[in-house]
Amino acid sequence: MTLSCSECGSAAGSSDLFCAACGGLLEFSMPAVSQPPSVLTALFATRSSASQPRDRSGVWRFRELLPPIADDAIVTLGENHVPVYDAPRGAAYAELAHGAYLHLGMNPTGSFKDAGMTVAVSHAHASGAKLAACASTGNTAASMAAYCARADMRALVLVPSTGISESKVVQTLDYGADVVALEGDFDAALVMVRKLDPARVAIVNSINPYRIEGQKCAAFALLEQRGWRAPDWLVLPGGNLGNSSAFGKGFREAVELGLSDRVPRIAVVQAAGAAPFYQAFVTGEDLVPVNAQTTATAIKIGAPASWRKALREVRASKGTVTAVTDEEIADARAIVGRDGVGCEPASAASLAGARKLVQAGTIRPGDDVVMVLTGHVLKDTAYASAYHRSGARFANRIGAARDEADLLARIETLVTAPA
Ligand SMILES: *Cc1c(COP(=O)(O)O)cnc(C)c1O
Ligand SMILES: [Zn+2]
Repeated sequence: MTLSCSECGSAAGSSDLFCAACGGLLEFSMPAVSQPPSVLTALFATRSSASQPRDRSGVWRFRELLPPIADDAIVTLGENHVPVYDAPRGAAYAELAHGAYLHLGMNPTGSFKDAGMTVAVSHAHASGAKLAACASTGNTAASMAAYCARADMRALVLVPSTGISESKVVQTLDYGADVVALEGDFDAALVMVRKLDPARVAIVNSINPYRIEGQKCAAFALLEQRGWRAPDWLVLPGGNLGNSSAFGKGFREAVELGLSDRVPRIAVVQAAGAAPFYQAFVTGEDLVPVNAQTTATAIKIGAPASWRKALREVRASKGTVTAVTDEEIADARAIVGRDGVGCEPASAASLAGARKLVQAGTIRPGDDVVMVLTGHVLKDTAYASAYHRSGARFANRIGAARDEADLLARIETLVTAPA
């Protein structure tokens, strides 16, 4: 696999971050694979029950499709074992006949970032890097910190000083990273990170092409659980847009390699207050950065780095882009919880977006729709707590019992209530 510019095609060095000719983001070429599809799928499946950690990893068991990294440099936490759950209440809410969640929050640090981070940190480790750095709204930080701890590397995290989930920061401190809070938002922190010298510091934001290679494995994990049959639609939240481009690349490669018969249509959902990609998609013009505002902090990004890559994937898949309000996200998040699944706020943009696209007639009610849940329900408990204490539509308040008789009366009501 070769690394080259995703804009102008110029060849790049294996640790470059940007194209020397035009400054564009880099991208790995299609993997060259000699095995026929049936041999590959059998190999992937067999590995998941093998004893080696790198065989059991939901990323490294697809290693024929990844950039080569020496076995002893691989840093894995057993990532990307990600369940597909039926979504009966979510589907009803979106007015779909049926739907499913692909829950990437069930990763070792609670978000999809782990699938990319295992590859980015393994590459950095293999190259002898001592320090990794990222700008983060929380989940990249937590993931990087955990993988660096495993690799015995230092980790430097730049986070916005306000508007990020405390649960994520605390998790990152637990893993021993150096956390520095910066004035300004994620976009300002990413500008700082881009100034660092990649020869001295491994930069592991999603501009790092190794991250994208790891994250594309979520597409493989989804297809594998469906007998390698693609759904009609894949709906996911879009922030910096690395994940949208990773899914698109994964699905395209699966078709190219004969593993799957078609690509799903990719629907990217942004928060209305942080929707520059939606604007660019609608107008057909270059993305104009915005001052991002949303309580779904993981997608509070005004200048998404991977918008060109993501736009190519959305178009190649005949997909679409939409935007939903914070209130729609909050209510959808509560519904994901009612399915016994749960997710963090940004993830619920998938269900809110699916609902909007069904109402708009873009997604048909009978379509086979997979909604990606990007982060775990415990990633932002302050947000959930505020929702349930509010008068919101699906708020579920803590009850009180005056005395034992009152409690028994309550239990009686519950026992006899119709299902
Ligand atoms: C990082 C993240 C996103 C946004 O992904 P991008 O690749 O930046 O578009 C969405 N949801 C959660 C929970 C995240 O951690
Ligand atoms: Zn270029």
